[in-house]
Amino acid sequence: REMRPQPPLGLTDIFIAVKTTGRFHKTRLALLLETWISTTKHHTYIFTDSPDEDISSEGFNIIVTDCPPEHSHQALSCKMAAEYDHFMASEKKWLCHVDDDNYLNPGPLLSLLTAFPADSDIYVGKPSLDRPMRAQELLEGNKTRDVHFWFATGGAGFCLSRKLAEKMAPWASGPRFEQTSAVIMLPDDCTVGFIIERHLGISMVHSNMFHSHLENLLLLAPSDIPKQVTLSYGWFENKMNSVELKGVFTKDEDPSKFRTVHCLLYPTTSWCPVALKS
Ligand code: UDP
Ligand code: MN
Repeated sequence: REMRPQPPLGLTDIFIAVKTTGRFHKTRLALLLETWISTTKHHTYIFTDSPDEDISSEGFNIIVTDCPPEHSHQALSCKMAAEYDHFMASEKKWLCHVDDDNYLNPGPLLSLLTAFPADSDIYVGKPSLDRPMRAQELLEGNKTRDVHFWFATGGAGFCLSRKLAEKMAPWASGPRFEQTSAVIMLPDDCTVGFIIERHLGISMVHSNMFHSHLENLLLLAPSDIPKQVTLSYGWFENKMNSVELKGVFTKDEDPSKFRTVHCLLYPTTSWCPVALKS
C-alpha cells in the first residue's frame, strides 16, 4: 500500500458550530460576529431557531433548525444533532462546537488539532467536573444501570475528529442523538461524552485550553489569555465572570472582555484603538 502524504490541516478544515437562539442574535451573537467570527466566517456555522435576514445578508452561514427556542435538554440536544448532521454532510475534518458566549481563538485551535495524528479518534475539551459524570442509563423493562463517563462541557467548547464522528453515527445521526440523550436523561454535552466513552470505549482528551463561565476566569494570567483555545463570560453570583486584561474599553463598553482580547490578537481591526497599532 502506498502511503500518500496528508496535506497539513488548515483552519478551513474545521467546521465551527456555534449554538445560539433568536433572542441572543442582537446581543451575544452580534459580539461574536464583530470579533472572532469575522476571521472564520466561511467555515463557521451558526445554529439557531429563528431566521435573521440581517445576519444572512452579510454572508454568514446561518442554519435555522426546527428546534424549539428553549433551554430544555431536548431543545439543546436537537441543536447538537443538527450540528452533527451538518458536519457529517460536509467535507470538513473536525467538528468544533462552541456556545454563543465563547470567544474562539483560531491559532491555538489549529495548533491543538494539528498535534493529533491524522485520522485518529479524538474527542477533546474541558471536563466540567473533576470526576466522571454519574448517570442512570435507562434499559429495557424499566431497568436502569449506573454509568460513569467523562464529558466536555459544551459551554467551554469541544472538538471531534471526523473518524470518531463517523463511529458515533449509530447513536448520534438523525433522530438518534435526541433518543440517546433521553436514555440518560441528560443534556447534549453529556450525551456526546456518553456515546464516545461508554458506547465506543474511547477516552476524552482533557485540555485546559478551553474555558467556560463555570470556572473563575479571573484566575487566567493575562499573558496566557492569547494562548487559550476558548474563553467565555457570564454572570456568577451577581458579578460578571470574565477574563481580566488591560485595554482601552470601559466595563460598559466591553463587559465580556472579548473586544479587548480581539484587539490584542488583531490590533489592526477598524474599531480597535489606534494606539495599539504599531
Ligand atoms: N440556548 C439555546 N436556546 C435557549 C437558551 C440557550 O440554544 O433557549 C443556547 C445559548 O445560545 C448558548 C447555550 O444554549 O449557546 C447555553 O446557554 P446559556 O449560556 O444561556 O446557559 P448556560 O448553560 O451556560 O448557563
Ligand atoms: Mn453560557
